Amino acid sequence: MKLHELTIQDAHNLLKKKEISSKELTGAVLDRIEEVDEKTGAYITVVKKEALLDAENADKCISKGEITPLTGIPLSIKDLICTKGVRTTCASKILENFTPPYDATVITKLKKAGAVITGKVNMDEFGMGSSTENSGLKTTCNPWDVTRVPGGSSGGSAASVAADMCLGSLGSDTGGSIRQPASHCGIVGMKPTYGRVSRFGLVAFASSLDQIGPLTKNVSDCALIMNTISGYDPKDSTSVPKDVPDYLSALETGIEGLTIGVPREFDLDEGVHPDVSMAVKNAVKKMEGLGAKCVDISLPHSKYAVAAYYVIATSEASSNLARYDGVKYGLRDKNQNNLIEMFKNTRKAGFGPEVQRRITIGTYALSAGYYDAYYGKASQVRTLIIEDYSKAFEECDVILSPVAPAPAPEIGENAEDPLAMYLADIFTLSANLAGIPGISLPCGFSNEGLPVGLQLTGGHFNEETILKVAYNFEQATDFHKKKPNI
Ligand code: GLN
Repeated sequence: MKLHELTIQDAHNLLKKKEISSKELTGAVLDRIEEVDEKTGAYITVVKKEALLDAENADKCISKGEITPLTGIPLSIKDLICTKGVRTTCASKILENFTPPYDATVITKLKKAGAVITGKVNMDEFGMGSSTENSGLKTTCNPWDVTRVPGGSSGGSAASVAADMCLGSLGSDTGGSIRQPASHCGIVGMKPTYGRVSRFGLVAFASSLDQIGPLTKNVSDCALIMNTISGYDPKDSTSVPKDVPDYLSALETGIEGLTIGVPREFDLDEGVHPDVSMAVKNAVKKMEGLGAKCVDISLPHSKYAVAAYYVIATSEASSNLARYDGVKYGLRDKNQNNLIEMFKNTRKAGFGPEVQRRITIGTYALSAGYYDAYYGKASQVRTLIIEDYSKAFEECDVILSPVAPAPAPEIGENAEDPLAMYLADIFTLSANLAGIPGISLPCGFSNEGLPVGLQLTGGHFNEETILKVAYNFEQATDFHKKKPNI
């Protein structure tokens, strides 16, 4: 096996035994980026020199016996997580030349653990989208079929992991942006419970929904990164002071006797691609074969999730993005006679069409006279969705569903139809509205050979159970072993 193809856990074992060095491993990953990223377009910025220096430092630590599970491991980072001294663009023209003077807490934690950062990867501008086509900077293709999208918004993260251009990645998930690209690229992606991972240094899209999480080649690697990035952070007032369990050891037990809920509202025979439907139905049978009990449950308000999400997320975005006015950060349009013109021209030149659309919708939804009808109403629906989950988790331990209604679309297929794109988020949004954790893992392939993902969600702070179910399923299947031919 080539070095860049290793999982984090396997690379760690070889580093620990000193059979390979981080410099060799990082070098192999950087070569791989040079070899294939012309085709996939996952990276916005590659930090070759810094990565090799970090690798050398990691090797020094290892030689002194100081090693964590992430020491010397090359990881890519979604370009909306602040990295000190390294450009952080949010894939937006407005921040194209923005270099943060500080690290996000998750980056501080990765650095402390000795991880090597290879660079910053592409995404939908500010996280707004499901295909990475809304990037203001470049196109990213799906490594399984370069005529297709990698999903989004963490499309660069997913493509870089799937094509072995890093061993793992950090993304962010506001409405499915880790789980859905993981599903389209045949890898594992987890959105943790809201409050489990610090958002300090994550450029805000919708603050009540955003969470950072890992994208990895398998479930154990996901658990390893979760161990490192989770935990309370006084710099994020929404992070929760709760002990972090060892997610890796949670994987070790079986799933006999666990109850898996299958929501009757997520009709697998209607509106879901037949290949996705087949893969998910087979996953249910597999879970039963592993000793779990699959039961019918109800999430009656899930049908309102798309409407509620697209009011709440756009409202919060309109408020969060008010700061990009040409005064404090990034781009300032030179074409101006007065201050108002400067604001207007800067925002028009700096934000892409989807971001402008969201700001317009959100500003409307929050405006006087409409607040109660839109944001207020959507927040009430959100409470009903939270209550649905509380009831459902009285009857089951985890909930199983598809991640996306169809495998990765062609590039350009939905680009002119934002509503079609929004509707395809139906299976992922509710977890963000409720703040619960969710994971996507490979559960099959379409007839055309495209990956299909399975989603498992759990109660608040119950990442351990969904990781355990995911791990047991993964060990009993081969889907995660297949690699794209790029
Ligand atoms: N696709 C959703 C949106 O466009 C979710 C994006 C995300 O999770 N960042 O808002």
